Amino acid sequence: MEFAWSGADAGFRHELVDFLDRELAGWDRSTGLGSAVHSDFSRAFVRTLADRGWLTPHWPEEYGGGGQGAWQHFVLGEELWKRGEPRGPQYMNVNWVGPAIIKYGTEEQKRELLPPIARGEVFWCQGFSEPEAGTDLAALRTRAVRAGDGFVLNGQKIWTSYANEADYCFLLARTGSVADGRDGISVFLLPLKTPGVEVRRIDGLVGEHSFNELFLTDARIPAECLLGEENKGWEIVRRTLAYERVGAPRYARAALVLDRLAEWCRAAGLLEDGGVQEQFGQARALCEAARILVYRVIDERAKAKEPSPLAYQARAAMVQAERAVGDLALDVMGSEALVEGALGDAQFRNSLGAGIAAGSYEVQLNLITRLILNLPKD
Ligand SMILES: Cc1cc2nc3c(=O)[nH]c(=O)nc-3n(C[C@H](O)[C@H](O)[C@H](O)COP(=O)(O)OP(=O)(O)OC[C@H]3O[C@@H](n4cnc5c(N)ncnc54)[C@H](O)[C@@H]3O)c2cc1C
Repeated sequence: MEFAWSGADAGFRHELVDFLDRELAGWDRSTGLGSAVHSDFSRAFVRTLADRGWLTPHWPEEYGGGGQGAWQHFVLGEELWKRGEPRGPQYMNVNWVGPAIIKYGTEEQKRELLPPIARGEVFWCQGFSEPEAGTDLAALRTRAVRAGDGFVLNGQKIWTSYANEADYCFLLARTGSVADGRDGISVFLLPLKTPGVEVRRIDGLVGEHSFNELFLTDARIPAECLLGEENKGWEIVRRTLAYERVGAPRYARAALVLDRLAEWCRAAGLLEDGGVQEQFGQARALCEAARILVYRVIDERAKAKEPSPLAYQARAAMVQAERAVGDLALDVMGSEALVEGALGDAQFRNSLGAGIAAGSYEVQLNLITRLILNLPKD
């Protein structure tokens, strides 16, 4: 097994770090994803990235990509995530929205929707969760009913990150009956300016204006908004979630926070304490384990294999790493860690969100027991 980076990937990272140090010199990484400051900065920064071919390097050239591999995309993700993800919501576009359209879209959908993503011009959001359908996504009730040459949407989504700023929503709706469960679900590429779509803000713990509700009232959309086959959305969902679960290299930022915490402890004279050293060692080991487990998933992608259950393992490991660093910050800094803008503050809130978003930690563990450990369901 070869753990070292190839010369080309190492060279790319070197060039990228130089570029980011220059471009992000005035960037305050503590502004949270979803905040107005973050999004304004992202819109400008992402275009600069796109001009260099570094927004969608792993996409096919015909759709605005650079024809590069999965590893280059991931090196980008690591370096950007460490710096507070200056791509803002567009990290989702390049990680899973675009790839889903590339795989399941019609030629017209690809020509219309992919180039604006590759140029860094649009925000997308994800309309999956509903008040009664989170973990049990197959229970979703938002309906899409055929009417004339299109569909009429009615229902409600919740926890829709970035919907307040997004141009499109990657939306799940029921086209079959509720009894059909996962077989009666379709994916729609919904322009948010469609009449009948209303976005309402939800204030939350995770960050400034992170969440929204999406209300759909007789919203009419053309049939061209359907992605893939009607009633066959579940396969797209599974694939999308597999990409989403490892899309954000959370361990990279957690490891950086850990380094900063060590500096803080050294200055405070705490680093000589054996118990503190042990906690640092454990947190570092969890960050490294998450990194290696995520790399196994990227290796599959680089070899064009179908997504496997390894994504659940990688996601669970990232949550453990995030939590270990958040808990360590609380232990060593006490309540000071939670002061807004303090070292532990964003880490602690991110670790809470990581254990819920893209499927909760407990659910990942269930899936690991079944699909990797082959344990019986009950
Ligand atoms: C930061 C963040 C961003 C998000 N962004 C979006 C977004 O953009 N779009 C979107 O659609 N959604 C988004 N979500 C919502 C997220 O997908 C859901 O919160 C998640 O799927 C869990 O669903 P729920 O909140 O309904 O909790 P529930 O499903 O009600 O779960 C509640 C608790 O019960 C546990 N539980 C449930 N079922 C089981 C089981 N079978 N076995 C063991 N334990 C179980 C869960 O682990 C959890 O602890 C976001 C959430 C967060 C935190």
